[in-house]
Amino acid sequence: MTPNNASSSQVHADAPCIVCNRTTVEEFLDLGSTALANKFLSEAELDKPEPKFPLKVGFCHTCGHVQLTEAVPPHAMFQDYLYVSSASDTLKRHLYDLSDVLVQRRKLGADDLVIDIGCNDGTLLSGFARHGVRTLGVDPAENLAALTQDSKIDRHVGFFNSKTAQDIVRRWGRASLITATNTFPHIPGLQDFVEGIKTALASGGAFVIEAHYLVDMLEQGAFDTVYHEHISYWALGPMMRLFQDNGMQVVNAERLPLHHGQLRVTVQRLGESEPDDSVAEILQMERALGIDRFETYVRFAEKTRGIKAAVRQTVTDLVTQGRRVVGYGAPAKGNTLLSFLDLGPSLIPYIADRSALKQGRYTPGAHIPVVSPDRLLKDQPDYVLVLAWNFLEEVMEQQSEYRSRGGQFIVPVPDVKILS
Ligand SMILES: [Zn+2]
Repeated sequence: MTPNNASSSQVHADAPCIVCNRTTVEEFLDLGSTALANKFLSEAELDKPEPKFPLKVGFCHTCGHVQLTEAVPPHAMFQDYLYVSSASDTLKRHLYDLSDVLVQRRKLGADDLVIDIGCNDGTLLSGFARHGVRTLGVDPAENLAALTQDSKIDRHVGFFNSKTAQDIVRRWGRASLITATNTFPHIPGLQDFVEGIKTALASGGAFVIEAHYLVDMLEQGAFDTVYHEHISYWALGPMMRLFQDNGMQVVNAERLPLHHGQLRVTVQRLGESEPDDSVAEILQMERALGIDRFETYVRFAEKTRGIKAAVRQTVTDLVTQGRRVVGYGAPAKGNTLLSFLDLGPSLIPYIADRSALKQGRYTPGAHIPVVSPDRLLKDQPDYVLVLAWNFLEEVMEQQSEYRSRGGQFIVPVPDVKILS
């Protein structure tokens, strides 16, 4: 990242918009001061001071971009990373399908290089590798690099920017396709990042982004999508402006159901290809929903405060009646929810999660221990609060045994409900 971005931990409220650079960002939601959502703690770390940062979201009155109003330096978040793509069956299947679709659409062969930015454990690139294309993953997480060591996937450990793009081109050449799935919302230095894309992309090549979609977040009341890693909450409008201002152009846009709603966007250099109808259609839909108006976000903030009151009430009532409530799924977003709703180990004694990297650790902020899902069958608690509510079907399927013995599920978002 550029030095400017790396030192932006103390950005004040009138910091410039990261898309249009104007100081017209107005805050609409304050989720309090929270610990970093992926910093699960070891037992020894529980006694040490844990850094917390303000978590506030604002809307730019000039370009409509929704973003955090105070940023945390990226190196504090991404160098030791516990989220792995392959831990979710749904996500793994999706990434393999994405590789199939893109190989076909872009007619990729053995000479083509595919670069995945924020490649995580290499799941998407292993999908591409099945088709015989050359693959390079870029990711700053040193702990995840070990996971692709023995595979055919090359890896550049570091952040992607205009400078690292030059190093990549010198060593691997230019890419026919660059992908960034669930990475683009993390980028603070957007102009420099796009410069890097133009450097590393072969002429006629495409940059494909998948990111959580602001329209879905608003429709579902998914306030827990907000955590420090997600600097941006993307709609198509501001994204079109970003690329247009930097010599590129959105040529295709699609809505996807994954993670409860994503936007997939294909970008090329200006003039290389004409945008198809999907771009105008999605843009029109966004405007009809009022996504470019501040009032829309004021309503979202009110709904968020309503969810907090309802879920807290449900959980505290059950515990008061002597029921046992535990958590299921320890995604990063769960930590926004636990922190904003002020739920700790006195109400939720543990959280079950399939990720071996998280088991034995404690959630950031709330310090709730994470255990293996086997524990649910040993203990048979009365209720599980589903923190990974966007993978609800998968969770209920995995826990069919717990269910058949009478275990019930509390789904917190978009409206609190109990499923048996
Ligand atoms: Zn702006």
